[in-house]
Amino acid sequence: MASSLIARLASEGRVLLTEVEAKQVLAEAGVPVTRAELARDPREAVAIADRIGYPVVLKVVSTTIAHKSDVGGVALNLGDARAVEAAYVSLVATVRAAVGDGVEGVSVQPMARPGIEVVVGMTRDPQFGPVVMFGLGGVLVEVLDDVSFRVVPLAERDARAMIREVRGFRLLEGYRGHPPADLRALEKLLLRLSAFIEENPAVSEVDLNPVFAYPDGAVAVDARVALALPHTEEDR
Ligand code: ADP
Ligand code: MG
Repeated sequence: MASSLIARLASEGRVLLTEVEAKQVLAEAGVPVTRAELARDPREAVAIADRIGYPVVLKVVSTTIAHKSDVGGVALNLGDARAVEAAYVSLVATVRAAVGDGVEGVSVQPMARPGIEVVVGMTRDPQFGPVVMFGLGGVLVEVLDDVSFRVVPLAERDARAMIREVRGFRLLEGYRGHPPADLRALEKLLLRLSAFIEENPAVSEVDLNPVFAYPDGAVAVDARVALALPHTEEDR
């Protein structure tokens, strides 16, 4: 189903969704994410944290910041209300000092248990159209460029193959006593992302970095979704 939130934001000319919005539309499409809620002051952040349970993560919410930790905009593993209040104040001050205005508030989400980090993304290729990307997280994707691609729509066997063909796949099979990752959950995530992209042609880019892969399940703890600006008269 096409996302009504994406349709509205696209009609308003928005290019970058906030993490809160990105996770909302992805969750609606069945992609597992740590849901994030917007707080506009420290008290609101504490109220959300009290409701969802500790530990929590706070992140800056802005439509102009693509990489939140680069500007000091992420605070992990906050164990109680006092930690949340203090993190809210220092996070907003740090980000404002780095980038100036444009901070809408702070998002609150559950702290996910550690898993094997993978990255999943989508870009639009001028020739092939939307393409889904899969890779192992961190150094493997950044330094070794160890990623696989498939054109949307993905079939089951595409999702299976693209996970298995990255060199880092051995990490997902279990190593040094680590249990193997839930490959079926990663396959499902890729297939749901593919369906989401098919149903929402306004989406120009998706970046789920990182996704934590577990022995049981997988979850995206960060999500970036960008929209294409509608074509102007000059383009036609
Ligand atoms: P950035 O915009 O800088 O990529 P992220 O949202 O990816 O910010 O957060 C930075 C890092 O913090 C992630 O790579 C991940 O290791 C960790 N992280 C973020 N959100 C969570 C979460 N909900 N639970 C656990 N770790 C998280
Ligand atoms: Mg990230």
